[in-house]
Amino acid sequence: MNGQRHSRFNGRRQSRVLETINLPIILEHVAEAATTFYGRGKLPEYIPELAEIEPNQFGMAITTVAGEQYTIGDVDVAFSIQSISKLLALILAMNLEGESLWSHVGREPSGTRFNSLVQLEYEQGIPRNPFINAGALVTLDRVLAHVRDYPSVVLDFARFLSMSDSVAIDSAIVECERQTGHTNYALAYLLRSFRRIEAPVTELLAAYFHQCALSMTCRDLSRAFVALANGGLSPILEEAVVTARHAKRINSLMLTSGMYDSVGNFAYRVGLPAKSGVGGGIVAIVPGHMCIAVWSPELDLSGNSVVGVRALETFSEITGLSIF
Ligand code: GLN
Repeated sequence: MNGQRHSRFNGRRQSRVLETINLPIILEHVAEAATTFYGRGKLPEYIPELAEIEPNQFGMAITTVAGEQYTIGDVDVAFSIQSISKLLALILAMNLEGESLWSHVGREPSGTRFNSLVQLEYEQGIPRNPFINAGALVTLDRVLAHVRDYPSVVLDFARFLSMSDSVAIDSAIVECERQTGHTNYALAYLLRSFRRIEAPVTELLAAYFHQCALSMTCRDLSRAFVALANGGLSPILEEAVVTARHAKRINSLMLTSGMYDSVGNFAYRVGLPAKSGVGGGIVAIVPGHMCIAVWSPELDLSGNSVVGVRALETFSEITGLSIF
């Protein structure tokens, strides 16, 4: 595989640190090391459509705060972004609701599986954070209070942020989750019984399954979230996507809750705010420097990409880039 550099965007000057490291060469090392971990994880069988994917695929794309892109591997293959979409919903909710969002959902790591029901019952329907499924449903419910036709709103938002018209919603995955997402129905009904959501359960879940089924490439994802590495300002769009305050807070939430019940292990190994999805994608932020999107379909027991986590760990080891 060849590390490639693209400077399609005339962004700002590259940061000093990035001038001293050779990203194309580093990406080659990372890909070589990480892909030796093919075969160590499992495809998510609880979403049958995702269990059909060819497992030995790997892509990694970096968009820097100067707007430059560096890529390696399968960076133009679209995959199901799944829970990475919770970031889109959170950005929309923070922009639409402001601080009142936090009376509906918490900001603490859950320490339980992403679709766990037990904690939600103990804690009377206030989910621990916006990145577990229950928290994502409550966050989305707040967005639905402000918008109509959420699937097109979230699709347009993803296309806008990534500047890519090829971003789509995979209707086969929507349908698959609609038919097999029993735990998500259980979570939504529990939330409804605690009066924590306003939208009817089926409407809320339809919106949720559409956002999970967004299909994007690593290249798209690294562009879409680079604003979080740059105080909320997208170097691609040359405009603010969120305020600097929100960008900092979203990164903090990713650091403490973005990788589910292995968030501590991930912080130990990588030391970057990140958000994963069961489609095998991970978006990681290096504040002040770049957004990294990595993808490889096989998952560990927490639902994070085995090869993706390994790639980010190797990347942070070689470059010394982490928030610590
Ligand atoms: N659609 C998936 C679910 O609801 C998203 C989970 C994930 O990516 N962790 O179970």
